[in-house]
Amino acid sequence: RDALLAGEAVLKDGGLAIDAVHAAVISLENCPMFNAGHGACMCRDGEAELDASIMDGRNHKAGAVASLHHIKNPISAAYHLLDHQHVLMVGSHADELAKAAGLEWVERDYFKTPDRIQQWQVIKDSNEVVLDHESSGGTVGAVARDEHGNLAAATSTGGMTNQLPGRVGDTAIIGAGTWAENELCAVSATGTGEMFIRTAFAKTIADELRHGAAHIRNAGKIALDHVDQLGGWGGCILMPVAGDPVLIMNSKDMLCGSLDSDGNIYTATVGEELNG
Ligand code: ASP
Repeated sequence: RDALLAGEAVLKDGGLAIDAVHAAVISLENCPMFNAGHGACMCRDGEAELDASIMDGRNHKAGAVASLHHIKNPISAAYHLLDHQHVLMVGSHADELAKAAGLEWVERDYFKTPDRIQQWQVIKDSNEVVLDHESSGGTVGAVARDEHGNLAAATSTGGMTNQLPGRVGDTAIIGAGTWAENELCAVSATGTGEMFIRTAFAKTIADELRHGAAHIRNAGKIALDHVDQLGGWGGCILMPVAGDPVLIMNSKDMLCGSLDSDGNIYTATVGEELNG
């Protein structure tokens, strides 16, 4: 709800979709419930590494960061790259670039919460790598359409619990976890990142629409079926050019919410679809 209101605060005064998804994801990163920013999951070394990306449907501008250790809001580091010569920055250089841009720097302990430490401690001596959508809030994302008809998408994550340090998932990959084109759709995805990368998930949905998928829900299902065939699971939120947002998932639970131009808010804490 807070994230929706943060997005609405931008949109209600004629603001842009790209700024609304940025604001919404900052709110989600700051909330310890979710696997992004404060409350991100732990890598095998007991520390968090953060990935995020954002795309502006007006102009194919995109920004992405991976394996951040110190920037409080990774989505802002990605946002900063929208107008930079580079699209994707990783590791300490990405942290330093964001710091030089004035973004808040925190010590690594900031990201850790007791719940995440406990989740990690259960499997830390194994090779197991887990997604935790079904027990708590996972990766976060937002899609928006503004009053000018512009679309945008943003996604942020701590990845998967007990992943190897240096592992990068779909959330940092434009075309896998995030995509936006004004003429087609905005997509923010979550799930077993490797399969979403291997199927170019978010871009596939846009391409299905480009090549004639009758409805955005069909396009999303085609892309998710491909993930499913590879043994992956997860879902996405989709914003069409017109009409209501759509949620597609093959996982059990996904927290979600939407807010329309009249200020009506819808939220769900179980595996319900945004449009019933
Ligand atoms: N897709 C993310 C990743 O693989 C994880 C998630 O969605 O929870 O890093």
